Amino acid sequence: MSGNQSRVQAIYQITNREIKPFNSPKRLEEMWAKDVFTLSKMQECLPKDVFKSLQKTIQTGEPLDLSIADVVATAMRDWAISKRALYYAHVFYPLTNSTAEKHDGFVSVQGDGSVISEFAGKVLVKGEPDGSSFPNGGIRTTFEARGYTAWDVTSPAYVMETDNGVTLCIPTVFVSWTGEALDKKTPLLRSNAALNKSARRVLELLGHKDIAPINSSCGAEQEYFLVDSNFAHSRPDLLLAGRTLFGKPSAKGQEFDDHYFGAIPERVQVFMQDVEESMYRLGIPAKTRHNEVAPGQFELAPFFESANVATDHQQLTMTILRKMAKKHGFVCLLHEKPFAGINGSGKHVNWSVGNATQGNLLDPGDTPHSNAQFLLFCGAIIRGVHKFGPLMRAVVATASNDHRLGANEAPPAIMSVYLGSQLEDVYEQIRKGEITGSQLAQTMNIGIDTLPVIPKDPGDRNRTSPFAFTGNRFEFRAVGSSQSVAGPLVAMNTILADSLQWIAEKLEAELKQGTDLNDAIQKVLQEIMEKHGAVVFGGNGYSEEWHKMAVEERGLANLRTTADALPSLKYKEVEELFDKMGVLSPVELESRFEVYAEQYILSLEVEAKLVVSMAKTTIYPAAINYLSKLTSTMASLNNIGIKLDTCAIEKIATLVNQLIAEVEKLSEALHKEDFADTEAHMKYFAQTILPIMNEVRKYADALEGEVDDELWPLPTYQEMLFIK
Ligand code: ADP
Ligand code: MG
Repeated sequence: MSGNQSRVQAIYQITNREIKPFNSPKRLEEMWAKDVFTLSKMQECLPKDVFKSLQKTIQTGEPLDLSIADVVATAMRDWAISKRALYYAHVFYPLTNSTAEKHDGFVSVQGDGSVISEFAGKVLVKGEPDGSSFPNGGIRTTFEARGYTAWDVTSPAYVMETDNGVTLCIPTVFVSWTGEALDKKTPLLRSNAALNKSARRVLELLGHKDIAPINSSCGAEQEYFLVDSNFAHSRPDLLLAGRTLFGKPSAKGQEFDDHYFGAIPERVQVFMQDVEESMYRLGIPAKTRHNEVAPGQFELAPFFESANVATDHQQLTMTILRKMAKKHGFVCLLHEKPFAGINGSGKHVNWSVGNATQGNLLDPGDTPHSNAQFLLFCGAIIRGVHKFGPLMRAVVATASNDHRLGANEAPPAIMSVYLGSQLEDVYEQIRKGEITGSQLAQTMNIGIDTLPVIPKDPGDRNRTSPFAFTGNRFEFRAVGSSQSVAGPLVAMNTILADSLQWIAEKLEAELKQGTDLNDAIQKVLQEIMEKHGAVVFGGNGYSEEWHKMAVEERGLANLRTTADALPSLKYKEVEELFDKMGVLSPVELESRFEVYAEQYILSLEVEAKLVVSMAKTTIYPAAINYLSKLTSTMASLNNIGIKLDTCAIEKIATLVNQLIAEVEKLSEALHKEDFADTEAHMKYFAQTILPIMNEVRKYADALEGEVDDELWPLPTYQEMLFIK
């Protein structure tokens, strides 16, 4: 089949597709956590003392005690076998944004040739995946080659049921034999521990006696696109790069908002319900579903959970979305910018800190005392984001997210904090230490006055801020849709832990000198605002003025690309931060820089190679084909005395020549191999390769607008976005 024949066939198949009938909905209680080895299931089947010890381990996040491991493993195995599992898998989270698994059978052959199902405690405590194929940024050349996985007891085991069988899945950390973190979970657990320590110290200074372990929480809103697989599979760019490298914008885009406000398409809703059932069975609290701004774009948000569990669940959610899409004849695109000129996808990470005794520490509360506490925690975050802005940018830096940040649809690459006008005013008063006919027309006396009511869902929600306070939590909006949320959470937890430690030290010093607690808090907050208030910004983050003001007047960094942002992982202060907080050693941090930089370069290299091959083997032939059709028609007409204007032919010929010239330039540019260092290598891709790719695209898309639609081989934007 040539040209649009395959497209026409695809459209026929899609529009005549039978929509999978939706099974009569099951009751939530029937589905909920059915596939999870929950705490209550463990309580049922474990001896009392073993369960108690396990429960304690879960609270403190310590590794599993070897003395109870065998009993726990046996109970877990029996439960899994009752769910028909024959295999178990250690699930871990390598430095790519993916989820990795190593499967092993329960099978154990006995001396007499019979088999039993075996699952020993030591396997729970230490599994050995063949880690050599996972990126480690040089750690393994410095240290021992292998790594091991160990159950993270704070995240429950579950069974994963597919058409092909049932597997017991155990969420694990992945570390080298010398203890270096090779994954994304280990630093997250460590950052929670650091946060717990610093927050506890501050709470103690505020007079609390009974303080339960403090943990961070996360609710991540996942945006995604669905494209029919008939289309997606005939686009090499969607298959290999996850985004369209070519494609003329369709005449209608997202400007009517009809998709956003319209009903969810029937076929998509059936897909969503299947996704949600899988999530419920795994104990993932899917909560919100809706259409997003772009046609073909949707969002799924869960109810928030503890950051560690939420992160594992987020990874599972991405897996489920991809798998279920396939079942329904879609391809789920988690890429941040699958279509040029159409809104991209993000993953807003809602984040807070709290515990069972003091509650949500970012909730202002209604007494002067709880307000003072809130102002300290919120102030700590302001300090952290200001001090470590480049780090906050680095943890959302990927080749794909670069297309989104700062593109007037997502927050800019400049890290600032949005507080809402009331809270901003309060901090401004604190900074000045005086009243000036403010919105409140009163002075905030810390520990004496109560805060004005801070709206939970303020009407003036500022969508242009990368980091916004939303009533009782912060929302980090710069995170990309395909990313693991672990990196952003680690950064937030760690900067908060560091700031709280700084606050504790300051308060302790003041109190020692006999300063009254409220005065001491006021002083600390004032210092924070004097030094770090520049990061607070309530205006339009998309505007030109802000870009100028942020950099020139406020000294904030505007790190536009990953190539600019990632090197901040090498800053001395960032290294000290992670080291001091016990979250990442300098070697571990360095290895992350290397892995992320390599991923950036690799993904751009794949894209550039695809641009070359698609331009040469798909777009050029279509254009030439059309040219030859045109010229022969023209010659025939000429024979009977009719003259067609040649300008159309000339225009296409010129575009073809320009296309080929740019493709040659790109091929040539891809040959360069000698780079001074990784930074230079990244910069080369950002500053030389990407612009040429964009040039190639410019001519290819112009050709799409000229060439006979019947000869155009690639599914168009209009088809991919609007046909469901
Ligand atoms: P919006 O689309 O207005 O940003 P949503 O209701 O879609 O709001 O998403 C809000 C997310 O924030 C949900 O995942 C919710 O569970 C989460 N969230 C609410 N409170 C907290 C909290 N204390 N910590 C972390 N996440 C929270
Ligand atoms: Mg949101």
